[in-house]
Amino acid sequence: MTETKPAKRKLSLAGQIFIALIIAIIVGLLMQSHAEFAESYIKPFGTIFLNLIKFIVGPIVLFSIMAGIVSMKDIRKVGAIGGTTIVYYLCTTAFATAIGLFFGVMFRGSFPALTTTDLTYEAAEKTPFMDTIVNIFPQNFLAPIYEANMLQVIVMALILGFAANLLGEHTPKVTAGIETLNVLFMKAMEMILKLSPIGVFCLLCPVIAASGPAVIGSLAKVLLAAYLAYIAHVVVVYSAAVGGLGRTNPVKFFKGMAPAILFAFSSASSVGTLPINMGCCEKLGASKDVYSFVLPLGATINMDGTAIYQGICSIFIASCYGIQLTPTQMLTIVLTATLASIGTAGVPGAGMIMLALVLQSVGLPVEGIALVAGVDRIFDMGRTTVNITGDASCVMVVSNLLKKKLESWSASESAEDASSEE
Ligand code: ASP
Repeated sequence: MTETKPAKRKLSLAGQIFIALIIAIIVGLLMQSHAEFAESYIKPFGTIFLNLIKFIVGPIVLFSIMAGIVSMKDIRKVGAIGGTTIVYYLCTTAFATAIGLFFGVMFRGSFPALTTTDLTYEAAEKTPFMDTIVNIFPQNFLAPIYEANMLQVIVMALILGFAANLLGEHTPKVTAGIETLNVLFMKAMEMILKLSPIGVFCLLCPVIAASGPAVIGSLAKVLLAAYLAYIAHVVVVYSAAVGGLGRTNPVKFFKGMAPAILFAFSSASSVGTLPINMGCCEKLGASKDVYSFVLPLGATINMDGTAIYQGICSIFIASCYGIQLTPTQMLTIVLTATLASIGTAGVPGAGMIMLALVLQSVGLPVEGIALVAGVDRIFDMGRTTVNITGDASCVMVVSNLLKKKLESWSASESAEDASSEE
């Protein structure tokens, strides 16, 4: 079926990003013998673009959540949206790890057994569980933004957002201020995003130039297993959730998500994709109350693609070392990968660091990470795409499940506003 479009329409951002992606792959393949040139002179422009995104993302999360809370006013609304979101995130992530393990087991026979032992990899230090909880809470007003610690930014936004609602006569002024700042940062973000086709090209081209040949080697199989699992999860779990619980046609959903999907694939950062994802959800007709809360939270804690990757890589690493995982170990992987993916930051490469946790939980050699580290970026592009699609699927589900409640709360808020104006 062909869609008729006005002849002179400007190419959409998604179209531009897609073209940049294709050009990056072609140029990257042609530049394989000049990978160092690509790394030294093309990648820095990609880094500038990513830096601009990192610069804007802290204020975007802070003000979009605050604006979300002040617009909701009602703590019941935040509680209902937050509760449904967390249940959805946990269930889909557990599914994702199971799918990852399933594909890992299916491909196990074709994974190579190691003959070398000189693998080295610096594992991240294990943080005690209670410290993880303590670290969620900010101890300084600026550090969370400065350090881009998104969980702390979210906590800060929740505290300030609720406080803004409790200011009595000052609430309208403060609310207007928060909303204005939200609009300001969103506009700045929109400007930065106009550069995304260039950013995408400069980020992807050096990766293809450097890793092209490695992928053709034995790692191709584990990459294939991961990508098949990513696709299975997206097609089966998200289509079912969006269609069944979200009452949205999955084809329409994926089409609407195209700009965010392409951007996530090229940037490998959920947090960086957040603003585009918000735009896509808005265009898909999701409630602003829902997406302004669900997406920043998801970009921080919901990482289904990362969980799939951790499941598959555990099996890959185990079989490289000639270790057969028991069902109990597999169950432990599902649980730890679910938790580890929550702790993974939405930035490139974070999932590989957290893989150390998963391997340690079942006593697999952490040095095995070195086996997959060389092509992590390629795993990462796929897992980030799954991660952000999962966040958006949650928006559609929560918007639909809470539709009636949200409408009735909004109606009672408007009635309250009207009576207080009189
Ligand atoms: N890059 C991923 C993301 O931003 C996280 C990961 O490394 O798994 O969602």
